[in-house]
Amino acid sequence: MPAFAGQALAPGAVLGIIGGGQLARMIALAAADLGIRCHIFAPETENPAFDVAAARTVAAYEDEAALARFADAVDVVTYEFENVPAATAAFLSQRKPLHPGARALAVTQDRLSEKSFVAELGLEVAPFRAVDSLGDLEAAVATLGRPSVLKTRRFGYDGKGQVKILAGTDLGEAYAAIGRQPAVLEGFVTFAREVSVVAARGTDGTFAAFDLCENEHRDHVLAFTRVPAQVSAPTEAAAIEAARQIAAALGYVGVFAVELFVVGEGASERVVVNEIAPRVHNSGHWTSEGAQTSQFHQHVRAVCGFPLGSAARRGRVEMENLIGDAALRWRDLLAEPGAHLHLYGKHSARPGRKMGHVTRVWPERS
Ligand code: AMP
Repeated sequence: MPAFAGQALAPGAVLGIIGGGQLARMIALAAADLGIRCHIFAPETENPAFDVAAARTVAAYEDEAALARFADAVDVVTYEFENVPAATAAFLSQRKPLHPGARALAVTQDRLSEKSFVAELGLEVAPFRAVDSLGDLEAAVATLGRPSVLKTRRFGYDGKGQVKILAGTDLGEAYAAIGRQPAVLEGFVTFAREVSVVAARGTDGTFAAFDLCENEHRDHVLAFTRVPAQVSAPTEAAAIEAARQIAAALGYVGVFAVELFVVGEGASERVVVNEIAPRVHNSGHWTSEGAQTSQFHQHVRAVCGFPLGSAARRGRVEMENLIGDAALRWRDLLAEPGAHLHLYGKHSARPGRKMGHVTRVWPERS
């Protein structure tokens, strides 16, 4: 581990962010509140984060000369997406603290290693099998049955790189549909709800979780997050304990999300871990107005080695994603009392593209 690991910074420091999308933009805005300047490293010439950052490097993630200059210009490095190439992460972490660290990336970039890691902690995941050939897929379907879900090991998000195996699905076609890539087959989980824990772990191991939130997807994309989640107190506690265990085992520093399925009801209600995101997460956007500290401020605090803020909730909260043309409602949303509008500054509203979000908070009567 480099000698600088765990070293606290001070306001005035420069935070380097790999990736320039809306998550980087919102991290940079929060960093500015804390007197931290951000330097974005991204390959695209236009990006939501460039509008709000002090500095930028436009270069490929493999460009070592550019990475070296970037590392020289910043005090600590973080990232807004989990597919940062391993070589890029290794190169940067030799030069500056990288939070979350390379292990968190390696485990979460690959669904097989992620599921194995979570299962080894004694947490429940959907039953799964590695699939490296059509023969593997046939054997896995024979074991796990139908319906089941075939997912690429890498680069899947928002339902991409996934095929549901139904009663009539031809396995050759399903394997072709995911590009015959290394994959996992998961048993189908009949869930009552989808929830996530968004939490932070500091350089000193302090852990702070936001309240469990409930997620509603449409066309595989997050549409709404609502807090509190409609689960029992023991189920919420179990979900948060799972997140705490995962973060501790990874030696994690920063904000992360654990997506879970809630299965069963009443006394048999329990959680099944679906996925870990080693970054701030769309299901944590409600915290900007709905919690004492937003996930973005919390992430900056964590990666800079500052004390974590309170994760207490301010009321009943709803976050609505503005996808594609939904962002055209901006004027009405601005006119709506109590609606907090966040737009990402993207120029074109392609269908399915996340353009912004809105949060609404209602005080809870005790
Ligand atoms: P993922 O990319 O793994 O987050 O999956 C995207 C969505 O597909 C999830 O939010 C679920 O709605 C659904 N899904 C994924 N895996 C399973 C599973 N094993 N059983 C049932 N539904 C699933």
